[in-house]
Amino acid sequence: MEACSSVLIARGSPIKNLKEAAATYRALLDFHALFGNDHPVELEVGCGNGGFIFEQAKRHPMCNFIAVELCSNVILTAMERILREGVPNVRFLNIPAEILPCFLPEGSISALYLNFSTPLPGSTHARQRLTSPRFLDIYSRLLCDGGKIYQKTDCGWFFDESLENYAACGFRVEEVTRDLHHSAYAQENIVTEYEATFLAQGKPIYRCVAVKLPSVQGNGGPVAKKRCSFSFGAKEDKVSEKMLRYHDTRWCKPEHRDGELFAMLVLEGMQAGVSWNLILEKEENFRRAFDGFDPATVAAYGEEKIEALMQEKGIIRNRKKIEAAIGNARAFCKIQEEFGSFDAFIWSFTEGKTVDHHLADIREMPAKDALSERVSAVLRARGFKFVGPTIVYSYLQGIGVINDHWKQCDFR
Ligand code: SAM
Repeated sequence: MEACSSVLIARGSPIKNLKEAAATYRALLDFHALFGNDHPVELEVGCGNGGFIFEQAKRHPMCNFIAVELCSNVILTAMERILREGVPNVRFLNIPAEILPCFLPEGSISALYLNFSTPLPGSTHARQRLTSPRFLDIYSRLLCDGGKIYQKTDCGWFFDESLENYAACGFRVEEVTRDLHHSAYAQENIVTEYEATFLAQGKPIYRCVAVKLPSVQGNGGPVAKKRCSFSFGAKEDKVSEKMLRYHDTRWCKPEHRDGELFAMLVLEGMQAGVSWNLILEKEENFRRAFDGFDPATVAAYGEEKIEALMQEKGIIRNRKKIEAAIGNARAFCKIQEEFGSFDAFIWSFTEGKTVDHHLADIREMPAKDALSERVSAVLRARGFKFVGPTIVYSYLQGIGVINDHWKQCDFR
């Protein structure tokens, strides 16, 4: 390692977290002092043996590169090669990417490369994945406006998840290809060590570019807004507009109007077994067919109206759900009589306060909790149907009793 000290900026192996690192590394890097020029600086996270950074630095001598790698053994190989070949524009950080903000000034990086980052399957590792919202938040701070992330992977689900996270974290995704080596991008491509292995196995290589959107409005272009990742349908490479609007303006916002509290109860019940996106698509039809969700009107529905609703094409024609909505309207009205309003009843479970879970990642969101179990039991005892703890959890989010917007979400 010592023989490589001229290209190694720092080693941070004993450092566990950003706080500890901040106490150790007090000064941000001075790129001019480091490289002896003011050329733009690009970053590779998880450089491995350094095949990519070596070739990239040779191709772009008017650019500087910093390669980051956690593992000492592999970064040593990369540094030895750079020194052996006399490539002047590469430096190395032997640190976990988590502590990059201790070294790099905000907005100082023009491009970032993620080549075959380990997918790390399973929800417990979600935060460690190098395109998780936690990391994208770090990269977003390091990149200049318009700065780009270039990602390659052999793993389809990781790629899809990354696309979703980019869209949710203030990036615009472009140049998506699911078979790089049969695309226009193949010609310029630098094959990395892992890529060579995957190619030999006959696997397709996924590639995308994510552009950081500016954080303040400049010339009327799109502005970066961070959103909980559920608000996107990135798998289809397009945003569900209704879902987006619902997320931004209604989800987890405290609701105190009885009519809306009833509407949400019916809509949540209708959702059982189908997607919320579908419910939002049909919401206007539901409101029309159910007389604006007026609880007293719905409570008075008889067999004739049920038959009419079963003929309504724009809603979900499920007799059990329709009958439950009517039964629930009757139970709802009884609560209004008893408590003065349904609002007073439902908010009494939290003494009028919103329970904020301060989720660091939307994947930490539970399907139900002790509160939803309690509310569900009380509702069922009062004759409500389609009010299991999971539906009720979703309902409590929908009416703002629970706030599960991700911590960094601009709409929380
Ligand atoms: N980019 C190389 C390639 O394409 O051949 C190496 C890919 S290898 C699968 C992923 C590399 O990322 C490993 O060398 C690993 O040590 C590194 N890595 C994983 N998590 C990291 C982190 N949090 N910070 C820095 N490096 C990390």
